[in-house]
Amino acid sequence: MAERIYIIDAGHAGDYMGYYQTPGKRSPDGKLKEGANNRRVARAVCGEMTRQGIKHISMIGNSPIDIPLKFRLAWINGLVAHTKGKYDPVLLSFHSNAQAGGWGQARGLATWCRDRDKASEDIAQATHEALLREIPAWQDYDRGIKHPKWWDWKGRLHRSAYISMVEKPQCPAVLYELGFHTNREDLAIIGGAEHPKNVARGVTGGVAKHIA
Ligand SMILES: [Zn+2]
Repeated sequence: MAERIYIIDAGHAGDYMGYYQTPGKRSPDGKLKEGANNRRVARAVCGEMTRQGIKHISMIGNSPIDIPLKFRLAWINGLVAHTKGKYDPVLLSFHSNAQAGGWGQARGLATWCRDRDKASEDIAQATHEALLREIPAWQDYDRGIKHPKWWDWKGRLHRSAYISMVEKPQCPAVLYELGFHTNREDLAIIGGAEHPKNVARGVTGGVAKHIA
């Protein structure tokens, strides 16, 4: 197996001098813009990976444009095609979650994982556990590791919106929903100064364990 290289994606658009293109995707009070916060977190992950000598490629630009899914996937799969043979690429995508209808009770960590793929499962498991150690407040709100498609008791296939980001990249893929920006307790965690560092330590620690 070749050395892994992590492709780091931050969901939605950045905040460009106060301009945020993505509709919704913010706390109900408008103070936390998910895309901007995803970038804060994903940058910290890149920083920690650099510090620990873990190879990665950042997809976090300063562009105010919310890259449409189709182009985001083309970008990811372009990177996959470029790195394959030399490295084993893995996509890690960073988000926070939302409950429909404004402020709500739903909170905690969910990790979405490519279905029936051992590398994705192993990385999801190791990083999910490490994140819960770094963010103990979420240990009571563990939403677990989730798969974007499942079959019900009648054998019917169900798909969620996550299928695009975790099934369509041509490599192992994991997407983190790091708390709910629609929950006041989670919002205090997500928007906190220490949050990016905690996530970076959790994800990088989990990934390092997987490499070892
Ligand atoms: Zn998101």
